[in-house]
Amino acid sequence: MIEPVQHSQYRKPRSPRVKLFGTGDLNRKMRCSVIVAHPADEVVGAGCLISKLVDVTVLHVTDGAPADMQDAKAAGFEARADYARARREECLAALAIANVPQDRVVDLEITDQCASTCLADLTKKVATFLQQSAPDIVVTHPYEGGHPDHDATAFATHAALRLMTQNGFKPPAIFEMGLHPSEDFKAKLPDFLPGTERETTTLLLDDRAKEMKQRMFACFETQRESLDVSPIGPEKFRQPLAYDFTSPPQEGKLHYENFAWAPTSQEWQSLACDALANLFPQRSAAL
Ligand SMILES: [Zn+2]
Repeated sequence: MIEPVQHSQYRKPRSPRVKLFGTGDLNRKMRCSVIVAHPADEVVGAGCLISKLVDVTVLHVTDGAPADMQDAKAAGFEARADYARARREECLAALAIANVPQDRVVDLEITDQCASTCLADLTKKVATFLQQSAPDIVVTHPYEGGHPDHDATAFATHAALRLMTQNGFKPPAIFEMGLHPSEDFKAKLPDFLPGTERETTTLLLDDRAKEMKQRMFACFETQRESLDVSPIGPEKFRQPLAYDFTSPPQEGKLHYENFAWAPTSQEWQSLACDALANLFPQRSAAL
């Protein structure tokens, strides 16, 4: 006689989405790395999510201090390095509120607005970070043309996962968070740019979460003007497409092409093609 299957003994593997957005014990067993272009990006785009997770590491690609010194001077700093240090310190204070200690935050210290100029090197550094932090899930920016540093961070994360796979490591599942600068570059908007419609998970903030995120925002003295006009939530996440970084993410003029300091889409694609040829000389360029 055949015994009926005891379903309770065969627990269905939980999807990365359930692991990331589930509650209680699910999150306790999961390691998550958040890879962002600028200090504070992770707080605006995923501060509430980060506070719900137990094992989080954060990687900042740039130091948040552009070479032109405009932001630094507006915040009262004469030296770029002092402004960058202030941005790191206020971000560490904000992350501490979400229970992420200082030793879980890594800064690559690339000059703000310059991440696209060193994509191959950045990819190798992201791969090293991922091998050391060994996350189950990575949260990063989408490739959507919102900010060249954000696209560079998306490139480096996707290319790093491909390098890990090539080298026999099991790559983590990847999610992207909604975050882009407003058209006047003043606010940080926790949303995706309009484009292809995809399934999005929206994290609504209850009163307690809003209060906590307000306290995180309050840590950013140098970013006060920007965060005062940035929405505190909700936070939006989705799983990425298999991006082709040799083509523009959108048709027509990209969001970042509105900013005088930013590269053109063509210039960015050229940097991406060079980096892919450097990183994957034997393979097709598309990731
Ligand atoms: Zn940013």
